[in-house]
Amino acid sequence: MRIDVLTLFPKMFEGFTSESLLGKAIDNKIVEINIINFRDYSTNKHHKVDDSPYGGGAGMVLSVEPVYNALISIDGYKKALKILVTPQGVTFSQEKAYELSNVEHIIILCGHYEGYDERIRDLFDLEISIGDYVLTGGEIAAMVLIDAITRLVPKVISKDESHLFDSFSNNLLEHPHYTRPSEFMGKKVPEVLISGNHKLIKEWRLKESIKRTKERRMDLYNKYRKESNDE
Ligand code: SAM
Repeated sequence: MRIDVLTLFPKMFEGFTSESLLGKAIDNKIVEINIINFRDYSTNKHHKVDDSPYGGGAGMVLSVEPVYNALISIDGYKKALKILVTPQGVTFSQEKAYELSNVEHIIILCGHYEGYDERIRDLFDLEISIGDYVLTGGEIAAMVLIDAITRLVPKVISKDESHLFDSFSNNLLEHPHYTRPSEFMGKKVPEVLISGNHKLIKEWRLKESIKRTKERRMDLYNKYRKESNDE
């Protein structure tokens, strides 16, 4: 998978692309991430990428030209899935992350300032928000997308199937986990988990998963019930 990121703050991606799972996936050539500073594509003498809004008002607007110039400089941009991050987009989800993990080439534009020149929107296929709050810029949103998507690409997680049981994968939150010691300050690990009986462990985990989802996310539980006919 290849992801090109258009940003005004390339340094923000340095630690992100060199550490942890993503760093390894890049080293192992499973994922390729290119960070492009679209300020370099401004034809303005001072490399300006923003301007004041027509009609007046507070804040600056991201200009269309540098974004367009940077976009068309990307190899294979026409076929790539072009995503714009914005609080006005569809809300990102695990389901969307699964869908996007099958895309070969993604381009993400990180916004800044008060907003995008509306004509930038026409250059992109999809608008995604990471939640109902407003960030200063799109970099953190792009990182959220990249992290959630790339961990689902085959071979990025060494135990490939482990994400199948993550929260949201089947409309349930994940079950509780325990590790050594078997007793801590009087709190014991549930007997069943040390029983060695895999069938019972599986049943316990599903039961706990359902219980936790019901307690914390009734909306998700209702979806689970509907889809699994567990009335
Ligand atoms: N005035 C804009 C609005 O109300 O829609 C918000 C602009 S925000 C200060 C600057 C940039 O941060 C946005 O263009 C977008 O790229 C990014 N951003 C902010 N909040 C976001 C969110 N919830 N999801 C995705 N991107 C976000």
